[in-house]
Amino acid sequence: MRAVKHPGYCKLCGQFKELTFEHVPPKKAFNSSAVRVFPFDEVIKLYTCSDGRMPWDISGLKGKIQQKGGGNYYLCRECNNDTGSWYIEEYTTLANTLNQMIRSNSLIKGNAYSFKILQMHPLRILKAVMTMFCDINHNCFGDDSLRQFLLQKESQNFDANKYSVYMFLTSPNMSRLNGIMAQYNLKDGSTVLASEIIVYPMGFALYINKPENFKPIGLCINDFCKFSYNHKCEVGFTNIPYIEINSQFPLDYRTKEQILSAIEDSKSEEA
Ligand SMILES: [Zn+2]
Repeated sequence: MRAVKHPGYCKLCGQFKELTFEHVPPKKAFNSSAVRVFPFDEVIKLYTCSDGRMPWDISGLKGKIQQKGGGNYYLCRECNNDTGSWYIEEYTTLANTLNQMIRSNSLIKGNAYSFKILQMHPLRILKAVMTMFCDINHNCFGDDSLRQFLLQKESQNFDANKYSVYMFLTSPNMSRLNGIMAQYNLKDGSTVLASEIIVYPMGFALYINKPENFKPIGLCINDFCKFSYNHKCEVGFTNIPYIEINSQFPLDYRTKEQILSAIEDSKSEEA
């Protein structure tokens, strides 16, 4: 009998099986070169700026190197193959199209852009993104209807009241992946639950039960669930921001200048 190398619970079907390696985002979507994964005690150095280090300065931090791009053993072979061919291929195509657009138009960070993608399957993009959010989180958020939405290729049964997916464009300098976390707003007592997958050329933030008054960065792509699986069409993106990620703090979309001035402000408060 062959030894099972990576046994575990598949993040999609939930069955205990041999798991297969999966790149998140897909390898051909700018995730094939070495990435460094930092343990918590190294990341904390970036959070605290303890040694005078800026949040975007990862030089010298100790981390595990994944030579062939970021990923892990998330799904069983069947779920990996199915979602790969049903949804993830479309994601790769979109990533490559956006890369060409960003490079050939020399987009400027901090600006928003409007453009059309001529031939796209919107539902497949939404499902690719939700598959990746399930990969990096626990047990499909405990939501069997989300599991069914992803396991049934044609399903359009997406709970757009519970989940809000926002998309933006991002520069190549820094990536950020984080599982669901809570951010408290001290002013109004509201809580924002969010998970992020941000790897050039695009970033996605998933909000769960987003407070109505909270306005996330990016364009909401929930309406992609209104297209059938084979519906291919022109998709207009209006005023989608092109941003740079400069820290590993979840939901931190500040520019370097904004971070620097916040650090200066806190210094003057201490003084
Ligand atoms: Zn599975």
